[in-house]
Amino acid sequence: MMSARPSTGDHTPTVVVAGGSTAGLVSALAMAGHGMRVVVLERAPEPPDGPPGEAGQRWARPTVPNGLHAHTLTSLGMRTLCERAPELLAALIDAGATVLDLTRAMPSGRSTRVPGDEELLALACRRSTLDLVLHRVVRALPGVAVRHGVRVRGLRLDDTRGHVTGVVTTAGTVPCDVVVDATGRRALGRAWLLAEGHTVDADVTSPSGVRAYSRFYRRLGPAGHLNRGNAAGVLGDHYAGVLHQGDGDTFSVALGVLPQDTTMRSLRHPDAFQAVASSTPWVTDWLGGDRAVPISGIRAITCPPNVLRGLAVSTHQPVAGLFPVGDAACITNPLFGRGLSLALAHAFDLADLVAAHPAVDHDLSLRAARLARDLLTPWYRQSTEDDADRITRWRAAMTGDRQPPLPDRLTLRTVGAAAGTDATVWRGVTKVLMTLRSPQEVFTDADFVGRVRDVVSGVPAPRSAAPTRADLVAAVAGWDG
Ligand SMILES: Cc1cc2nc3c(=O)[nH]c(=O)nc-3n(C[C@H](O)[C@H](O)[C@H](O)COP(=O)(O)OP(=O)(O)OC[C@H]3O[C@@H](n4cnc5c(N)ncnc54)[C@H](O)[C@@H]3O)c2cc1C
Repeated sequence: MMSARPSTGDHTPTVVVAGGSTAGLVSALAMAGHGMRVVVLERAPEPPDGPPGEAGQRWARPTVPNGLHAHTLTSLGMRTLCERAPELLAALIDAGATVLDLTRAMPSGRSTRVPGDEELLALACRRSTLDLVLHRVVRALPGVAVRHGVRVRGLRLDDTRGHVTGVVTTAGTVPCDVVVDATGRRALGRAWLLAEGHTVDADVTSPSGVRAYSRFYRRLGPAGHLNRGNAAGVLGDHYAGVLHQGDGDTFSVALGVLPQDTTMRSLRHPDAFQAVASSTPWVTDWLGGDRAVPISGIRAITCPPNVLRGLAVSTHQPVAGLFPVGDAACITNPLFGRGLSLALAHAFDLADLVAAHPAVDHDLSLRAARLARDLLTPWYRQSTEDDADRITRWRAAMTGDRQPPLPDRLTLRTVGAAAGTDATVWRGVTKVLMTLRSPQEVFTDADFVGRVRDVVSGVPAPRSAAPTRADLVAAVAGWDG
């Protein structure tokens, strides 16, 4: 059993953040907001100078492959920025980010707005711009040092081996009371503990089943319509084609298919990509004629599985003072676009908890694990369930097998159909998609369930305007991926 170890003399812990991407930098911002001294250690080089949108594109970060793909911030992320980091939000808007009012996509129009709708916002900004602006804000904070080209290799523990006292890095040892593991999907905290002879509870994982192909564009005229509120496009029966507005006049198009779908590897070819993107409903309106020019190549990534980390949520906490955030705590399918928003909310909640606790002790670790469990588990579960349903359908479309029956429970897919015609259902779905309310809260509410059933029974299922699987195969045929 670990004993309580008081933090520094003034009881304000000193913090090392391992990893200086979104989760790490936001953790530094949040901890510094409570007067803690923070050192961010990041193995990638520092960002270049210059206007954020342009400098972000030149920032060489091979350890952040996600950063080259389409990103958006959900309403949870926006709420966190508005309430906890308004200066960061202002700097992002200054750099060209746009706040999107999602009620523009409400079926019956914005005239039926109700209290609470003002929270239905999203942020349109490229990930590279977001991280670069965040870096500049954090670097300028008193009490925060951001060091680049430094790799954290392990933990330093006290004599009882129950407390963190520092980190071991490629540039020597850095003493601290608290280590935030923001090392992304590799979640190195586990390996550091195993190397010290500790055991760590297992992670839970499930397949995300997506390979994404993304390309960035510059629009030459006004922005088009975003039928999904924060995006244009479809999450269809056999593929996803989604457009996200970026900062300034940029936007991205991402096409998602099953990783096993070898026919679709041709999407790496610009003509195949263009053919599929411009036959995708809503996306086509942004691409047609001379409306946009590509500003990047086509990037492909096989998305990581959904993961809920044992180290983040288990009540078996081997040491005091180690806290995972961001992808090091939980990964959910990028199709739902909520990794950053969860990281933001988690970072601020964790900082509040650490600041309010009298010591960096075992009790704090347990509270932090409960906080992470309550915040992250609903979203891990939602991703897992909706991905299982989607993967089965996409696989059937790929192999030509019969489509499986709809599950009995409400899913984003079944509710999504009703959301197209009913503002109340739309609001419920949008709050789930935007990470404001969990599927358990919304999809098990008896009134909501009744309303969805009424709407679905009264309205014929809309015919999809998306290309069929055969159309897609024909569109990519002949292009060698
Ligand atoms: C295709 C795709 C699209 C996505 N779209 C969205 C979206 O629209 N919206 C959204 O919210 N999320 C999206 N996500 C998820 C989002 O990208 C992740 O949730 C996010 O990157 C997590 O940030 P992070 O800071 O935890 O990790 P990362 O961004 O992976 O950063 C980890 C950092 O740790 C550093 N590091 C690693 N090891 C060490 C070490 N030993 N020492 C020092 N530094 C180290 C790395 O260099 C890196 O900078 C998407 C993901 C993918 C793959």
